Amino acid sequence: MKALTWQGKRSVSVETVPDPFIVEPTDAIIRVTSTAICGSDLHLYELLGPFLDAGDILGHEPMGVVVEVGSDVTALAVGDRVVVPFNIACGHCFMCRRGLQSQCETTQVTEYGSGAALFGYTKLYGQVPGGQAEYLRVPLADYNHIRVGDDLPDDRYLFLSDILPTAWQGVEYADVPEGGTLVVMGLGPVGQFAARIGVDRGLRVLAVDPEAVRREMAERHGVDAFDLTDDVVDELRDLTDGRGADAVVDAVGLEAHGNPAIEAAQSALGVLPDPAARAVMQTAGVEPVEDIETETPEADTEVANAA
Ligand SMILES: [Zn+2]
Ligand SMILES: [Zn+2]
Repeated sequence: MKALTWQGKRSVSVETVPDPFIVEPTDAIIRVTSTAICGSDLHLYELLGPFLDAGDILGHEPMGVVVEVGSDVTALAVGDRVVVPFNIACGHCFMCRRGLQSQCETTQVTEYGSGAALFGYTKLYGQVPGGQAEYLRVPLADYNHIRVGDDLPDDRYLFLSDILPTAWQGVEYADVPEGGTLVVMGLGPVGQFAARIGVDRGLRVLAVDPEAVRREMAERHGVDAFDLTDDVVDELRDLTDGRGADAVVDAVGLEAHGNPAIEAAQSALGVLPDPAARAVMQTAGVEPVEDIETETPEADTEVANAA
């Protein structure tokens, strides 16, 4: 089959690779019909090279049709149309029973102290072949799928693989009181979803993004959107009786560009020998979370969204 593979820092290519096959009786194989690129994939492209091997198959936002099931799979049959979310979880361990599937104890990658395994996302998350490919092996397939109907095209379902539930969970955690005000920082895909979920829940949603086209998209769906200016914090405060919003969802992404110190650190890591880089990154945290400098924005601040 053809698959998108990582080949080195800033180097990916479509290559012919062996088709996946059933390894465990709980596996299924799907023929991928649609697959998305995530903001998180930028980390693989740029930063996480020490945790990838040339040839690793990328992608964690696929959907498709089941073409084969293992002997223990009971919830799926050949021909079923499914979305495959990025987490790989068992559904019955201590963490899964508490709704913490991203910490699944059955699939967690203890070697790196990470959470649950993820598709297409480095050795830190199990080095599981990803979904930017013609076929995908889905481990623990009874649990790791969302079956969908045949009624709508792929693009009406595909975002269930990551960014729609990611945005939903962000709004859920924000726990805005009924009729309250939610601010969404960043209007890329996850920010757009978070803002519209807020509107759908009857919240007043104010959003901030430097790109006019993104603000216009949000405004078409009932969001009040603001440019990222020196005055935006005052504007938002004025609109909320001086109190500020009830909650803020940061949908800018884990590595907003425009911070010279972070970029220098990332570049330095990129040129360290792999074992040393791995040690530093595990100690320092793989994905440095950068505060959004709303009061002194860089002129070149980019809003990149990661799920
Ligand atoms: Zn994603
Ligand atoms: Zn589990």
